[in-house]
Amino acid sequence: MTRDATLVADLDYVVTCDDGDTILTNASILVEHGVIQAVGPRESLQQRAEEIGATVRSGARRLAMPGLVNLHTHLSMTLLRGLAEGVDLQGFLHKVWAAEAAVMDPPTVELGARLAALEALTGGTTTTLDMYLHPQAAHTGASALGLRHVTGPIFFDGPGPDGLTWDRRLDSLTEWRAYVATAPGPVIPLAAFPHATYTTSPAHLAELREAMCDNTFGLLHTHASETTAENEEIRARYRCTPVEVLVDAGFLDSDVDVVLGHGVHLSRSDRATLAEAHAAVAHCPGSNLKLASGALNWRTCRGSGVRLGIGTDGCSSSNDLDMWQAMRQAALLARLTSGHPEAAPATEILRAATIEGARALGLGDTTGSLEVGKRADLVLIDLDAPHLTPVHDVPALLVFAAGRGDVDTVLVDGQVVVDAHRSTRVDAAELLSVCRERAAYAKTAADSES
Ligand SMILES: [Zn+2]
Repeated sequence: MTRDATLVADLDYVVTCDDGDTILTNASILVEHGVIQAVGPRESLQQRAEEIGATVRSGARRLAMPGLVNLHTHLSMTLLRGLAEGVDLQGFLHKVWAAEAAVMDPPTVELGARLAALEALTGGTTTTLDMYLHPQAAHTGASALGLRHVTGPIFFDGPGPDGLTWDRRLDSLTEWRAYVATAPGPVIPLAAFPHATYTTSPAHLAELREAMCDNTFGLLHTHASETTAENEEIRARYRCTPVEVLVDAGFLDSDVDVVLGHGVHLSRSDRATLAEAHAAVAHCPGSNLKLASGALNWRTCRGSGVRLGIGTDGCSSSNDLDMWQAMRQAALLARLTSGHPEAAPATEILRAATIEGARALGLGDTTGSLEVGKRADLVLIDLDAPHLTPVHDVPALLVFAAGRGDVDTVLVDGQVVVDAHRSTRVDAAELLSVCRERAAYAKTAADSES
């Protein structure tokens, strides 16, 4: 009898991203009911694979690694790609929010999330932390393609592009909890997304913290210290830093996992606070470089004990969801900002983009590494390419030479969602055609609003 089982056999390499950064050679992976049952030599797995009728998938000239975790993005903004060019963060927000208010209704958000999930998954990203409007629509779209899509209600003081009042937003926590309990797709934590301390007041943040505790929400994600202008604005309003606003609201001494998007301009004291609270920063080097927001100093953050993951940010600021580019940018920027070629070793970058991102989301026991008992979120890289030959240093190959075009196969929760570079869940040509049509309308609306 055929069961829900797969044997990925005879892999050249298995990059586990376990605590010892183990890299196995000539190994196989057995997956059953979505869970990694064994990783090791084929001979040791063959009998069990036959007993359970596992489908055998060749891993010859392939490398297996955990799926990438994009720790900060706004998926549905794929449809706004390229609409706000040559501007800083303030100019960007002005232009993009007008377009969002005009076009981002739930069906459009769902469509944008489907496009994003297709881009993310075919590029080897299996988990995303997605802050956006109409989270249920986004989740419906992204999970249909198989993405482990962490999202939830977004909070601003004002109505925002979705027009919701503050009280309505607080109510949405209860609705979201009910939705997640039966939602399609892989398991996700309950998360809330106040946009930033410059768009959500201290009083509202304190209210949100209480409401999150009442509703057992365990994850908070917000933008913080992305630019010096943001820091100056918060200093002028409240005489403190964005992180200190979050401290005052009670987020950093609670059971809530906190992930800050960007964290480019953290003070020494902010870094100490975040380290003590085990909070994480989602480093988005591509967005920070493109909007000229500044450069996070990886070495200083790590030295302070701040946990670091990696994100792409949304496609309207950094234009794509390419985590391979983000890894490489993070590694190179770390060397530039520190003046040390040994800053941010490739192994550390790989961990940030996999297991450290998963842990930041409270999903460290579920995904982020290839270990027995974890859900099978894994990527196969085709090594049969000139730019991946020869293999002298596997982590360096992945961070400095590999790209998303090398992603051949992707499993999420043990299901094959990308096979031979193609989504198994959607007709890509048809989806792209619908997106082109809708994006043309978004551009017209954005131009007329600005
Ligand atoms: Zn962002």
